[in-house]
Amino acid sequence: MFPALQFKGKSVGVFGLARSGISCAKALVAGGANVFAWDDSEPAVEKARAEGLSITNLHTVDFKNLSALVLSPGVPLTHPEPHWTVVKAKHAGIEIIGDTEVFAREVQSSGAKLVAITGTNGKSTTTALIGHVLKSAGLDVDVGGNIGLAVFNLRPPGKDRIYVLELSSFQIDLMPSLHPDVGILTNLTADHLDRHGDMHHYAFIKGRMFAKMRAGDTALVGIDDPWCFAIADRISSGADVRRVSVLHVLEDGVSAPSGILYDRRRGKIVGEVDLRSMPALKGKHNWQNACVAYGAARAMGVSVPAIEEAMKSFGGLAHRMQQVGTVSGVPFINDSKATNADAAEKALASFDNIYWIAGGIAKAGGIEALASYFPKISKAYLIGAAAEDFAKALHGKVNVVRAETLERAVAAAATDAAMDGRGNAVVLLSPACASFDQYKNFEIRGDAFVDLVSKLPGAIMAIGGTT
Ligand code: ADP
Repeated sequence: MFPALQFKGKSVGVFGLARSGISCAKALVAGGANVFAWDDSEPAVEKARAEGLSITNLHTVDFKNLSALVLSPGVPLTHPEPHWTVVKAKHAGIEIIGDTEVFAREVQSSGAKLVAITGTNGKSTTTALIGHVLKSAGLDVDVGGNIGLAVFNLRPPGKDRIYVLELSSFQIDLMPSLHPDVGILTNLTADHLDRHGDMHHYAFIKGRMFAKMRAGDTALVGIDDPWCFAIADRISSGADVRRVSVLHVLEDGVSAPSGILYDRRRGKIVGEVDLRSMPALKGKHNWQNACVAYGAARAMGVSVPAIEEAMKSFGGLAHRMQQVGTVSGVPFINDSKATNADAAEKALASFDNIYWIAGGIAKAGGIEALASYFPKISKAYLIGAAAEDFAKALHGKVNVVRAETLERAVAAAATDAAMDGRGNAVVLLSPACASFDQYKNFEIRGDAFVDLVSKLPGAIMAIGGTT
């Protein structure tokens, strides 16, 4: 943790004492602010107290005496309705900001650079990939924000340091000073609308990534959805706007519709990277992540061959189409994060001969939407509560094993895939379901999968994988 000096001598309210709230409150205290920290949850208050923070019930504080309210990004600012601290802060006319805003102000004049990533999907993968590429190129990089460490747990700013930050829309909403050197918007689809009201408001917030950019900055926007397409057109600040597509060839931008990334400026190819053999970047969605990561690394001065080399050694993020090992040459893929059909679709689209482990607690609609991928599934191994419904949906189209447990599913899939003989078999855990009938969360389910794979005779496990 490093001190936040911008609020020295001022009084600041901090509401929401989870990971980022606690570290920001500590940073403010260390920087000489008078901090009033509070949370509605008793256990959160106790934990913060145990970490040495002094706690004040914000109900009893006159907000007119505060300079700012630092709000946790999970606390409702507008929808479904403003939190009581937001109402009090607005009434008192004080600013409402997030820990990332306090961080941005602290970093602003330090010379450190900021690469910021947002979007509905692919944020974490893109953030980790950029961190990996920049680190591999020998740059001084810290990765955090919505992924990994809270911003005040990163190393202090310095002239040559590059912060690679994943930002949720909630964080951007609380970050009026956001001005990245490289700003990235991967894509936009309906999500979190409970919190943002409607798609226009959601897109407006995401678009603020680029609001303060100017000449010398780089904006990277995936334009394969209409919302981002429009946002890219509206960036008018002199920043270098790089459009990204995995659906179309772009004459000016970075595109990879067939898996070969081409960087073109006014029709001329200025960079080329073959993404098709990158083990952790399979599927069009990952090509989109790779294209924006490429653009960010170029903007940070990394050469094209260095980017290509680094992308090859990217281990991927745990539980997201992560190749965890091989047995008799058959890759075992952990996509436990696919807790709904939409996410599982990305994995099913990425392979051709699939021994598919699925099931758990299904979401509305089950796996009906995945029917067009059924021909690629050589056999399905069904586990958990959804097994019966999924078996019905697959009936007559896909051979099904009612494995019930992950242990039996892994064993059966390993045996079948080893005998496949076509050379392109994969064993894929992409459950299209939540885990909590059998596992507390998707991480524990994925870890169990990795453990089972590692115990198969002849298993060769991948090294690392949680870059
Ligand atoms: P986020 O941090 O935005 O939730 P992740 O990188 O953790 O995204 O990826 C979560 C899941 O979203 C992946 O398992 C995959 O199914 C899907 N995904 C990843 N990248 C993209 C993308 N660029 N477009 C669409 N879906 C994606």
